[in-house]
Amino acid sequence: MARADTLARARELDRPDLAYLVRFPAAGGIRETDLTWAEIARDTAWIADRLRGHGLAAGQRAVLTASGFEGFWCHAMIGALRGLRVTYGIAEAMGWDHRRTSVFHRELRPHAVIGLSAETLEGLSGATDIGEMFRPTSVVLARPDAVPMLHAVGVPGCVLSPLGPALAVECPERSGAHVSAAEWRVGERDGQLSVAAGEGRASPLSETPLGIAGRVVTGRCACGSDDPRVLFGEANQLS
Ligand SMILES: [Zn+2]
Repeated sequence: MARADTLARARELDRPDLAYLVRFPAAGGIRETDLTWAEIARDTAWIADRLRGHGLAAGQRAVLTASGFEGFWCHAMIGALRGLRVTYGIAEAMGWDHRRTSVFHRELRPHAVIGLSAETLEGLSGATDIGEMFRPTSVVLARPDAVPMLHAVGVPGCVLSPLGPALAVECPERSGAHVSAAEWRVGERDGQLSVAAGEGRASPLSETPLGIAGRVVTGRCACGSDDPRVLFGEANQLS
């Protein structure tokens, strides 16, 4: 129960700017960067725009699959879903929790499934026809290694993926996963993707090779966004 003197004390507590220490795998090993509450607020607004672009709107339902260590983008994703008044259920993206994804999908009949992983699809494949399961779902945003599995069964999934400390989200044009140009600089060198913090980020991050094959497309997308687009794995296919 909240008491007046407790609330008065709470009002005086400092709230640190730092929300998360983001640890992410890079080409040279694990790297760390800070994530502030102000950055989460900006990331939330950016993700909400991406979800609006996929037609998400109040009253719809979504299933989010993500891992516990992915709070750095999940927090903003959940904030965006709440802001859009989309009801959501959360399942772990690791394969052992695929039954939770199945139950939420069956019970919520979601407009969108967000963050679907190859491990979840492999788990579901044992007992379910994943084509039948996801073809009726309007929006499927899946990890890069899950998208070909979906396409193979007639599900037109789009890419969603962490990219170091950033998040890449493909729009309905399916011409690469957008990364916020206001927050990050993405690049490619020798067929490998890199990321650097934009000037507005509190924690500096110089150009960091990620050891992920891919390339970057710049210029305005047909969706109207000028945010650069990442094509995962393209370099491997081209070589
Ligand atoms: Zn686009």
